Amino acid sequence: MNVILFGPPAAGKGTQARLLVEKHGMRQLSTGDMLRAARASGSELGQKVAGIMDRGDLVSDEIVIALIEEKIETCGADKSYIFDGFPRTVAQAEALDALMDKHATRVDAVVRLEVDEEKVIARIGKRFSEEGRADDNPESFKVRLDRYFADTAPLLPYYEGQERLHKVDGMKTIEEVAAQIDEVLSGLEG
Ligand code: AMP
Repeated sequence: MNVILFGPPAAGKGTQARLLVEKHGMRQLSTGDMLRAARASGSELGQKVAGIMDRGDLVSDEIVIALIEEKIETCGADKSYIFDGFPRTVAQAEALDALMDKHATRVDAVVRLEVDEEKVIARIGKRFSEEGRADDNPESFKVRLDRYFADTAPLLPYYEGQERLHKVDGMKTIEEVAAQIDEVLSGLEG
């Protein structure tokens, strides 16, 4: 079973993805983590994306699609994947569908974490002061939110039209959000 965790930055996608890995042995594919790893390794790709990420902009579709393709080609398409932070544009969503199709599999569900934007901004302020992640600074975070509304939110009608979209209340506690996600996933298995 393949699932996309969908929502604005700081909606809790990474936290929920990690719980799904622990509980259900699914594999988390986070393009943000892959790009941060590329930066940490000092690779050419890492150097290329550093400035874009720090200012909160989106890395090109070509780059992130290639990262996901490489992972699926190496690890196999017969696993259960959680896509976290990917796709972020309609072009990425179409590329993912094509990739899944090529491997005779599919994205079974898109789980949307619905959050209150004001509260997310407060949440990110706290994360910035605690963890100091460069792109959590107020200016970059604003760009990330703008990119979400301009480029990523248009994916909602794309998935809704295909009846793959499931909504959960992302403002509840971590455990409560996890329970709602589990409910969606068990509904898919039935
Ligand atoms: P994240 O950890 O998912 O919030 O991603 C951190 C940053 O990496 C984003 O603000 C973008 O600059 C870049 N990034 C991650 N995933 C994508 C994606 N699917 N498309 C474009 N840029 C991405």
